[in-house]
Amino acid sequence: MNKVLIVAEHFQGRLNVSTGKCVSCAQSIGDVEIEVAVLAAEPAAVAAEAAALAGVQRVRVIERPENAEALAAVWAPQLAALARGYTHLLGPSTTFGKDLMPRVAALLGVGQISDLMSVEAPLRFRRPVYASNAIVTVQAPADQIVVATVRSASFQPVGGGGHAAIEPVQVEATLPTHTRFISRTAAKSDRPDLQTATRVVSGGRALASAENFQLLYRLADAMGAAVGASRAAVDAGYAANELQVGQTGKIIAPELYVALGISGAIQHLTGIKDARTIVAVNKDSEAPIFEVADIGLVGDLFQIVPELERLIRAAR
Ligand SMILES: Cc1cc2nc3c(=O)[nH]c(=O)nc-3n(C[C@H](O)[C@H](O)[C@H](O)COP(=O)(O)OP(=O)(O)OC[C@H]3O[C@@H](n4cnc5c(N)ncnc54)[C@H](O)[C@@H]3O)c2cc1C
Repeated sequence: MNKVLIVAEHFQGRLNVSTGKCVSCAQSIGDVEIEVAVLAAEPAAVAAEAAALAGVQRVRVIERPENAEALAAVWAPQLAALARGYTHLLGPSTTFGKDLMPRVAALLGVGQISDLMSVEAPLRFRRPVYASNAIVTVQAPADQIVVATVRSASFQPVGGGGHAAIEPVQVEATLPTHTRFISRTAAKSDRPDLQTATRVVSGGRALASAENFQLLYRLADAMGAAVGASRAAVDAGYAANELQVGQTGKIIAPELYVALGISGAIQHLTGIKDARTIVAVNKDSEAPIFEVADIGLVGDLFQIVPELERLIRAAR
């Protein structure tokens, strides 16, 4: 029997959808008992959400004031203590999981497997390398816990309807004092969240300024879409860092991805590999983005985007 512990990602009392995706991944391990760890200062709402995830047998709750913010340095020793006795410890390969899981692996004295795409056997997994240009099959050692992050774009979240037991636990863990929460700065937006949106409109270097990105915001609003950006656009200061899509940004799997003035560099494409339909607008008919696009428009985005916005608004 495999015993899998999943660390819940949550914010402001709401469970992130990435946790349900980890449960889905855990189910594919087979012959499995799945538990979710909730670390929080006020865990009730998140624990209840986790307990309702289909397939979860137990939710283990570590309630401490120090867990009010998801500080990897503070959570890692608690998780490492809690993880003993499990065959697998899984977290999402979101910014949260990428921060936390390597620390837990290090404390447990094991390596971490990153970005599980699929499970072939309890200790054998497939994961992407070289910006998803190649997929490798990796085998974990049998005599130690598997610590891994789960590629969110590769798994559908499990549904609700579960009734897992919720169990408070205390762990023996010395928490570090060298890291503490000071403040959070995040761009406020009414637009859908980039990582979970079904539609995304993304802009590249061709936008040429932060002001021109307004064009893209207007189109996104007309479509009810989230906004993304290439790294070139982020590095140039046209778009905020958290909007970056790609290898060193967000890996997303929307139903519709609209790439405006983005060349289609491999590091960008790795972020949209699982997008259902890709629409590209580029003035260069040879741009590599057209090799992956389902619909391509060759032309100047500064003419095409306002026209697209007008047509969408008129059709409503
Ligand atoms: C280790 C590493 C990690 C990286 N990680 C990422 C990542 O996470 N995400 C990412 O995006 N990149 C990443 N990159 C950078 C990547 O290699 C590219 O440099 C970047 O994606 C290019 O961004 P772009 O397509 O906006 O710009 P460009 O490549 O400069 O393309 C601009 C495109 O706009 C078109 N264009 C210009 N004017 C117009 C117009 N008026 N109308 C229509 N089209 C127009 C051009 O024809 C061109 O195709 C990474 C690179 C490295 C080395």
